[in-house]
Amino acid sequence: MKLRPNSIRAKLTLWQVAIMALILALFALGIYAYVRESLFAQIDARLDSSLRLIESSVRANTAELGEIERHTQVIAFRVMEGDWPLYISGGWIAADLDKAIPPRNGRWVVSPARGGIYHLKQKTLTLGKRQFQLSTAENAEQLHRGLDRLALTLSIGFPVAVLLSLLGGYFLAGRMLIPLQHITTRARNINENNLADRLPIANTHDELGQLGNVLNDAFSRLEMSFTRLKQFTQDAAHELRTPLAVLRSVGEVGLEETRDAHAYREIIGSMLEEVDRLAQLVNGLLTLARAESGQYSVQRQPEDLQLLCKEVVECLQVLAEDKQQTLTFDAPQSVITAVDHDTVRLALMNLVANAIRYTAAHGTIRVTLEPGPDTTLISVRDNGPGIDPAHHDKIFERFYRIDSSRSQQSGGTGLGLAIARWAVAANGGTIHLESIVGHGSQFKISLPCTTASEQILCAAD
Ligand code: ADP
Repeated sequence: MKLRPNSIRAKLTLWQVAIMALILALFALGIYAYVRESLFAQIDARLDSSLRLIESSVRANTAELGEIERHTQVIAFRVMEGDWPLYISGGWIAADLDKAIPPRNGRWVVSPARGGIYHLKQKTLTLGKRQFQLSTAENAEQLHRGLDRLALTLSIGFPVAVLLSLLGGYFLAGRMLIPLQHITTRARNINENNLADRLPIANTHDELGQLGNVLNDAFSRLEMSFTRLKQFTQDAAHELRTPLAVLRSVGEVGLEETRDAHAYREIIGSMLEEVDRLAQLVNGLLTLARAESGQYSVQRQPEDLQLLCKEVVECLQVLAEDKQQTLTFDAPQSVITAVDHDTVRLALMNLVANAIRYTAAHGTIRVTLEPGPDTTLISVRDNGPGIDPAHHDKIFERFYRIDSSRSQQSGGTGLGLAIARWAVAANGGTIHLESIVGHGSQFKISLPCTTASEQILCAAD
């Protein structure tokens, strides 16, 4: 048995033994005191009744005292009248109890002649002018020996019981902690290579089971974020590879033969296009990385959403005009609500840019703003190709594209909707897609007016 002082097993065992020892000690002392007192009380009762008998004889007729001796052999007694011994029983003389009087320890005396212990009771009786001293004693040697044996038994039994409780406690604590050991061993072996492993749980309802469940949940979350991180790194590398490969091949083509200045300008132009795309991608990745690590500080202040939407629409109007599209903005009134200007602008820019990108030439894109009692709704609606419901859940994930080549051709990075979703969520809002394939898509941003003061701000001017 190896007890490490800081182990739970040792602590449990020692606590259990300490409590057990205390209970046993109290129990042993209680038993001893109870037995002793009840036996002493029995002797006292007998001595009291002898005294009463002797007293009645002294009152009636002192000649009867000899009769008492004949009938009660156990009791020794003495009757003194002043200093003169009126009657001394044979038992009293044999034990030579005269020399033991007065008693030094109250309840009993040790016989000088026999060495045995005698319990003693005395009483003074006054009859007229005569004064009697009545003394009676009983040999309690057997009883005291019995009590000593009981004390010995209890004091040997106590350490034995404590030792047994130590062994039992150690064994039980060990058994109780076996599941914890299994959890520790398994948890120690879980690393980034086997994050799918889970801790064994024997009983999900006890405390260890609950601990195991909590740890398993934590491992699940860790696994998810590891998988996401891996996926993100792979996707990012993949996305960066394409423009880099294009850059390289355009550069190689340019170097293959001597060309005129116009041809070189074209080559440099298409290289710059790829550099733009790379820069856009890196910017998007940076925005998401900063958002996820909590470095992006969002400061919600009263903003006029009408002005903000107008600003975005005006900024992107030129792109829509390039495709002969109609980009309109509808807002009956100004709507002031507490938002972070930059993040809401970013979300809206991405949605409108997507609508322009994926809607065919001569299409229509409408941006509308609707104030409500609890939320303000900004909607971006186009009459483009629409999005199949099968993609609705995944479309907001990073690098998820319905038609990869089309997205890349039109300058998409695959991050626009993921950034938009984060930006809206950072303002406490939600983003929602409604679409019918072939008829267009509508992205709805709803921004809350969370506090009472904001509700007032949210209301239209
Ligand atoms: P991307 O940079 O490729 O546009 P996004 O995250 O912005 O990445 O969009 C993800 C995908 O959702 C796009 O590749 C496109 O297939 C689809 N999509 C987004 N907006 C629209 C839209 N208005 N109409 C049709 N498809 C869209």
